[in-house]
Amino acid sequence: MLDSIHAEPGRTLKVAARADVVVVGGGPAGFSAAVAAARQGAKVCLVERYPYLGGLASGGMVLVLDDMCAGSEITVRGICSELVDRMKARGLAIYPPEAERGHDPAMFRKWSRFGLFDFNTRTKPHPICYAVAFDPDGWKRASDDMVAEAGINLRLHSLFAGTIVKDGCAVGVITESKSGREAIMGDIIIDSTGDLDVAASAGARFSEGAYMVTTVFRLGGVDTDEAERFQFEEPEAHAKLDLEARRVIGGSWDYWWLKTPLPGIVWCNCPHMTGLDGMKVEDLTRAEFDGRKRIHAMVDHVRAKLPGFANCYVVDVAPQTGVRQTRMLEGEYVVTKTDITDRVHFPDSIARGRDYYTPYRSLLPVGIDQLLVAGRHYSATPQAQKISREIPPCMAMGEAAGIAAAMALSAGTTVRNIDVASLQNRLRAAGADPGDVPTKHIQVEEKVA
Ligand SMILES: Cc1cc2nc3c(=O)[nH]c(=O)nc-3n(C[C@H](O)[C@H](O)[C@H](O)COP(=O)(O)OP(=O)(O)OC[C@H]3O[C@@H](n4cnc5c(N)ncnc54)[C@H](O)[C@@H]3O)c2cc1C
Repeated sequence: MLDSIHAEPGRTLKVAARADVVVVGGGPAGFSAAVAAARQGAKVCLVERYPYLGGLASGGMVLVLDDMCAGSEITVRGICSELVDRMKARGLAIYPPEAERGHDPAMFRKWSRFGLFDFNTRTKPHPICYAVAFDPDGWKRASDDMVAEAGINLRLHSLFAGTIVKDGCAVGVITESKSGREAIMGDIIIDSTGDLDVAASAGARFSEGAYMVTTVFRLGGVDTDEAERFQFEEPEAHAKLDLEARRVIGGSWDYWWLKTPLPGIVWCNCPHMTGLDGMKVEDLTRAEFDGRKRIHAMVDHVRAKLPGFANCYVVDVAPQTGVRQTRMLEGEYVVTKTDITDRVHFPDSIARGRDYYTPYRSLLPVGIDQLLVAGRHYSATPQAQKISREIPPCMAMGEAAGIAAAMALSAGTTVRNIDVASLQNRLRAAGADPGDVPTKHIQVEEKVA
């Protein structure tokens, strides 16, 4: 009979690296945290399981940055804006200039197929807003440059496997890789794994949520001019055929394909698969199998039926499975859905999303010191996380966590005890918007609850 438990003998591990700040997870939040901490003078080690940076933004091929403006006000800046500028300079990011934002139908026709509209408004068509369509390799390239320039010790191909905790304080992490099982020691650890791997392993309290899972994919060979002509000039025929396509794949947003900066290449934010747990190997395996089956069924369908798609082909299916929600920290403050929808302002706000604020306390686990959490697993209820987990706000949280860690080190205090007003000032000085000064949101359109 097969034993149901195997006792692993204890072992001693090689310490592969030491740093002031160890950031686990090189997605939008972790990358921002690492760069921000290093720019403040901290020695940083960034650990990532995949062979590239970007997380869901590059490996997950989630290719629109949104939730970073409230009406005409840009609310996420700092490292996020810098990365956008670097991608744009290479022609690998695109956004509507200020003069083209708003309700002009001609601008809607020009920009909506890039997904650059404010889908949180009830007004139809939605207004064109400041949002960015980008290329996944553009992200990898720009973030490689920024990490190298900041002098970060980047360790790719390294799967986090456990947190080392001493006397209630996080002091290091264990990784598994081709080099074996190793330890990386740090004075402060930042968990940016998206699934709360580090904080959960350290014993932090968390809640468990679930949301749709998606195997995002890209199509090439799409005649986007013809597809857009069909959408705008034959709206009824388009609505019928487009709905059929969405039924074949089994669930999607209305805009299931979006243009990218590369001509003829579109990204597809579908299928929507429910009832899957992003923390279970069995469910993740099923997601990949079912997702690919659905993708190929849809591609066959649209090639035969949908104008503009006759010669399309699958370029790639995202290497990182599109998991939106799993474990979320139950930290010193748990952000609620009403906090987001009512735009509740917190005196310790250190980051913003579109028109909402993130308190520093929501990055702090209860009971474990020298550990910060930044990204989609921050301390929020599952309902709040669903509407506050986009890439730019995760980057803003990461930037704040990185600067907070560096501040704690130089002040010789813990991350729990830093002076938040100074953190807000440092974020402003670095070009970020911590949301310390609440703005009047008068011009924001009626929001979807
Ligand atoms: C299908 C889909 C569509 C979305 N659409 C949009 C959109 O249009 N616009 C938008 O702005 N946002 C969108 N989002 C949300 C957004 O992509 C995420 O919320 C955001 O990327 C979260 O950033 P993060 O850094 O917290 O986590 P992630 O992007 O998940 O990054 C986590 C990083 O940690 C690494 N990691 C995880 N575990 C380990 C481990 N054990 N060891 C080492 N490394 C590890 C991962 O490899 C990854 O690099 C979408 C999400 C999905 C899934």
